[in-house]
Amino acid sequence: MTRAIGQVVIVGGGTAGWMMAAAAGRFLDDGQRRITLIESDAIGTVGVGEATIPPILKFNRFLGIDEGEFLRATGGSFKLGIEFVGWETGQDRYFHPFGTFGQDVEGLAFHQLWLKLRSRDGIGPIGAYSPADVVARRGAFAPPPPESRAPLSGLAYAYHFDASLYAAFLRRRAEEDGVIRIEGRVDRTERDEATGHVRALILDDGRRIEGELFVDCSGFRSLLLGDAMGVEFEDWSHWLPCDRAVAVPTRRSDPIIPFTRATAHAAGWQWRIPLQHRTGNGLVYSSAHLSDDDARALLLANIDTEPTAEPRHLSFRAGRRQRFWSGNVVALGLAGGFLEPLESTSIHLIQQGISKLFALFPDTGFGRIERDEYNRQMGDQYDSIRDFIILHYHATRRDDSPFWRHLRTMAVPDSLRRKIDLFRTKGRVFRYDDELFAVPSWVAVMLGQGIMPDGYDPVVDALDADRLADGIRRLRAGMAQAAATLPAHGDVLARIAASPRVR
Ligand SMILES: Cc1cc2nc3c(=O)[nH]c(=O)nc-3n(C[C@H](O)[C@H](O)[C@H](O)COP(=O)(O)OP(=O)(O)OC[C@H]3O[C@@H](n4cnc5c(N)ncnc54)[C@H](O)[C@@H]3O)c2cc1C
Repeated sequence: MTRAIGQVVIVGGGTAGWMMAAAAGRFLDDGQRRITLIESDAIGTVGVGEATIPPILKFNRFLGIDEGEFLRATGGSFKLGIEFVGWETGQDRYFHPFGTFGQDVEGLAFHQLWLKLRSRDGIGPIGAYSPADVVARRGAFAPPPPESRAPLSGLAYAYHFDASLYAAFLRRRAEEDGVIRIEGRVDRTERDEATGHVRALILDDGRRIEGELFVDCSGFRSLLLGDAMGVEFEDWSHWLPCDRAVAVPTRRSDPIIPFTRATAHAAGWQWRIPLQHRTGNGLVYSSAHLSDDDARALLLANIDTEPTAEPRHLSFRAGRRQRFWSGNVVALGLAGGFLEPLESTSIHLIQQGISKLFALFPDTGFGRIERDEYNRQMGDQYDSIRDFIILHYHATRRDDSPFWRHLRTMAVPDSLRRKIDLFRTKGRVFRYDDELFAVPSWVAVMLGQGIMPDGYDPVVDALDADRLADGIRRLRAGMAQAAATLPAHGDVLARIAASPRVR
């Protein structure tokens, strides 16, 4: 006889653990179910995930989080996209904006119209048709206007925030919603001989914590999914050789720009994430091409204000577990896999893991159908994001170091090869299943990395080109005018910081 799960045990109190705990406290605690989180202060968290993508707004709404309260609690800022510096030639820069480019016409994606008309007078770069790009260039910010026909209606945004403050913020909410926190170090697991399921966790002081569903948020250690259940790691380092990071916070620098900056170096890249109280900086690099000491020196030579702490080194490996759910264990966050933070996707993958787990929530029978579906959907998410990240490294003309020469010439996954070939011929992009990045993101990065299609979709020729060009020029002017009326990003943040109520 199967019945509803009565005990959920979360191992780990990093971003993944507290996101799961906050969501579980709000939606799984029906008064019958006990939700416990075990974490060890002695082990600590990764705690450098600071940049996010627009679906985080949905997660916050799902938890009933007020935006102003959230930004004040986490020192957060708004993010309109990512500026990539030096990724195509070493001397270039391009913007991957959130939201849309222009407006689609009669079912044709806007970029197809742009590809046909781009050499005409007054058409300009495709970025001039992205609300987020136009607003970001001015250092301004406002949420998208509610009217669907307003020039900036296609704007989308996310946040930068302090990851440890975010975990603390979620912890308060989770504990208010009844989640029980246990401080302690998991030493070993006790498993049921017949089913292989985890029955209890034994802490190093001898305490025994029983559970029915175990959520592994133990970080790179992958204590339950990897160690206990033996689910293998699929290594992607041949495509994504960066395996180290060194991170350092610096004093806040004004103005606070509303975007992340990712600057390519000879053996990796550097992030810059502006927060209200400080700037987050880090260098992601390949240890086969750069030593830890040189990485530290390179990072410190490329920051714009004084460091406020010692640089911190981290090691990782790109890849994912072959399954995310095995038996009665589901892994979230780093316990399930790691993709470098180039497109700020890790926190999103935690969010996806939680929402798919809720959508396929098991009973004590732990049916195979739900588990297989969860593994299929999460696997697809990781694989498509992997391809998107590889695209940045592979589609480049950089030839200035062994690192770039390897990445430029390596064989990429077939799924990515197909996408590049389709785009290169007639600018076509297809979004498969519920893959994260939509058409505008692929267009921004393909063009930004220097892939200019040889042609465009011939269906565009059925439209009157002169009328289309006039309409597009008007759209461009309308966006520029609307963006010029918006307040500076720093002023918006100052207003939020000063008032508990005003946005
Ligand atoms: C360099 C770098 C930059 C990043 N930047 C971004 C970014 O900008 N945006 C983004 O979305 N993501 C980013 N990420 C990813 C992001 O940091 C992680 O996805 C996020 O922090 C989730 O981590 P986690 O909770 O899975 O693991 P962790 O933070 O490692 O937490 C693991 C938890 O498990 C506990 N634990 C471990 N072992 C035991 C044990 N035996 N007993 C009890 N408790 C235990 C620890 O105490 C800790 O609480 C970045 C990652 C790296 C490495």
